Amino acid sequence: MDNHLVRFLMKTLTTFQNITLIDGTGRPPLPDATVAVRDGKVVYAGKSRKWQPSLEEDIINLDFGGKFLLPGLIDCHVHLSGSGELDSRFDAPDDGAMALKMLSNARKNLAAGITTVRDLGGWNELEFAVRRSIQSGEFTGPRLVLAGRFISISESGAQHYGGMYRIADGVEEVRKAVREQIMHGADLVKLGVTGAVLVLDGVPGATHFNADEIRVAVEEAAKFGRRVAAHAHGIDGIRKAVQAGVHSIEHGTFLHQGPDVIKEMARRGTFLVPTISAGHVMVESDHANVPDWIVIKLLETQQAAIKSLRAAQRAGVPIAMGSDAATPLNFHGENSLEPYRMQQAGLKPMDCLVAATLNAARALGRDDRLGSIEEGKQADLLVMDANPLGDLKRLGDKKCIRAVFLDGKLVARQPADSYPRTVLARDCLTVGQ
Ligand SMILES: [Zn+2]
Repeated sequence: MDNHLVRFLMKTLTTFQNITLIDGTGRPPLPDATVAVRDGKVVYAGKSRKWQPSLEEDIINLDFGGKFLLPGLIDCHVHLSGSGELDSRFDAPDDGAMALKMLSNARKNLAAGITTVRDLGGWNELEFAVRRSIQSGEFTGPRLVLAGRFISISESGAQHYGGMYRIADGVEEVRKAVREQIMHGADLVKLGVTGAVLVLDGVPGATHFNADEIRVAVEEAAKFGRRVAAHAHGIDGIRKAVQAGVHSIEHGTFLHQGPDVIKEMARRGTFLVPTISAGHVMVESDHANVPDWIVIKLLETQQAAIKSLRAAQRAGVPIAMGSDAATPLNFHGENSLEPYRMQQAGLKPMDCLVAATLNAARALGRDDRLGSIEEGKQADLLVMDANPLGDLKRLGDKKCIRAVFLDGKLVARQPADSYPRTVLARDCLTVGQ
C-alpha cells in the first residue's frame, strides 16, 4: 500500500492549539486549552496538558497563538427574505431573485460567525430550496432551521408580507396550515399570536389567535415532534400562548405587565427571544429615513421590551438570542451585536453569550449536538483575536473574528490567513463578506 493510500485510510484529527476556550456553557474561560475535532465532531475540549493524541491518527495541529475559541453563534430569529429595507417590505422582483437574496443573507450570517440560523417566516417556500442547495454542498452556508410560513389570522400583515404569511382562521384551518409547513420541510411552526409593530395598522398589543387555535397548533406540531414559536407582543396573547404550551415567546414586548405569566414561563421553561436589535437600530438611527408610523410605535415598544427582558431574566425565564435581522436597518451580518444589546438592556456578558450559544441550542431542542464546545458536539467554532466577554461589541467586529468553522470545516476566514487545505470548505467565505 502506498503512503498516500495509508494516509487516506487513516482518520484525520484536527486540533485547535494554544487557545483560551469559552465553551458556551457559562463556565469561565479556560486558558491553555486544546480542542480536538474528528469527523466534524468535538472529541476533546479541555486543558492542553491533559490531551493525549492517539498515535494511529493523522493529526493536523492548528496553532492559534493565544486566541479565543467559542462556539459558533446561533440566531433564533431572522427572516432571510428581508435585508433591512427601510419600508420593511421584503419583496423581490420574482422568486429567482428572492432565492438569491435569501442565500446571500444566509451567507452573511455565516461570515459573521453565526453558524446556525432559525428563519421564522420565509417566502414562498424558497428557504427550503436555499437549504437544499447548502446541504448538497453547492454553496457554503449556515445550518438553517426553518419555520416555513408565518401562520396568521386574516389581517393586513398578509398583504404587507405576501410570500411570508399563511392565513388560517379557526381550529381546522390552523391544523391544516401547520401540516402544510411540516409537509414543506419545516423544523418548527411560527404562529402570529398578536399584532405586529412593523405592519402599518398592526396593533402589537392586540390578541389575534384564540386559545383553542393556539392549542391546536401546539398539539398538531407535537404530533410531528415540532416546536411552536409564538410571535407575541401583548400580555394577553403571551399568556394564552404560554398556557397553550408554545416553546418560545418571540419579542415578548409587554411581558412585564404580567408577573404571573413570567412566573409561568420560568416554571415551564418557555424561552423568551427578546429581539432587542429590531427596535434598537431604528430608535438609534436619526429616524430621517424610517417611516413615521414605525418610529411612533417603536418609541413605545422598545422601552417596554427592555423592561420585559430584565424582569424575565430576574425570574429565571430562559433567554435565547434572536435579532429579527431583516427588519428596517437590522442587517444580516450585524446580528451578532444582539448579545451586546442584551447586555445594554441589563444582562451580564456571560449570560448574553450563553443566550447566543447553549441556551439558543436548547431553545431549538438541539443542545445534544449544538451550542457548546464539548465532547460529542458538532464542531461549530468561532476564533476571535480578543476576549468577547471583555467587550461584547467584539462579536460584531469583523476585524476581531479570525475564522469560522462549521462541522469542523473552515467556512470563513480573514483573507490573509492561511490554513492547510484539508480543513478548508470548498467554498470558503471571507469574514464579513
Ligand atoms: Zn420576526
